[in-house]
Amino acid sequence: MSGETGIVLVERVSKSFDGFRALDEVSLAVRPGERVVICGPSGSGKSTLIRCINRLERHDSGRIVVDGVELGKDPRAIRAVRREVGMVFQQFNLFPHLTVLENLTLAPRRARGLPAAEARATAMHYLERVHIPEQAGKYPRQLSGGQQQRVAIARALCMKPKVMLFDEPTSALDPEMIKEVLDVMVELAMEGMTMLVVTHEMGFAQRVADRVVFMDQGQVEETAAPAQFFAEPASERARLFLGRVL
Ligand code: ADP
Ligand code: MG
Repeated sequence: MSGETGIVLVERVSKSFDGFRALDEVSLAVRPGERVVICGPSGSGKSTLIRCINRLERHDSGRIVVDGVELGKDPRAIRAVRREVGMVFQQFNLFPHLTVLENLTLAPRRARGLPAAEARATAMHYLERVHIPEQAGKYPRQLSGGQQQRVAIARALCMKPKVMLFDEPTSALDPEMIKEVLDVMVELAMEGMTMLVVTHEMGFAQRVADRVVFMDQGQVEETAAPAQFFAEPASERARLFLGRVL
């Protein structure tokens, strides 16, 4: 099957919560190096889709394959997939009782068995990549929201993921901090990272996305190149949505 070449492959995936169909036969394939932006109204299933790909939620039916490993009942497959997939949430999710450096070295030491010195060197490398190496010894509460989100991105990168998932990474940020986070994400995209990004930052989508996926009511309503999507969305629902966010 041609779609098997995707690094993330979602095939007719459905997911219900108490009888409510949050995902309704969603299909999506992301090729290595591709940047896909997912947008759509609140409640359309964007987070559920991202969370199913990282197995934070279990899908009810359909197939999800990440880097050749199908997410099923085998816990080894889930661990394997989590190692390959970096995740950045709206609410940073840093460990408050750990310093920035400790936040970055924890998973590489525990999950990858990296020696402490090597984990520290990797952490400092990625803190420099997100332009805040000077914050290494601080605790998350001592940082701004934008800095915390950049720490969260660096933390995910420390695991050397093959694909990065972002779920509205700038939605919790004050306007003046959105740009510093988007700039880091643009840099990542330019370096060739495979990215699946839920965002309403349409400027970001226009700049870096290879494809825009518009979701509505648990379904992929429309998939298009950004230029096409923003100039002339095919569906009425996308037109209404764009009228609200742009
Ligand atoms: P989006 O991220 O596009 O705003 P979500 O994926 O968060 O949408 O939610 C899709 C729908 O599923 C919403 O109606 C939401 O209320 C519902 N939903 C999501 N997660 C849960 C959950 N854990 N329990 C019950 N309902 C949920
Ligand atoms: Mg969401």
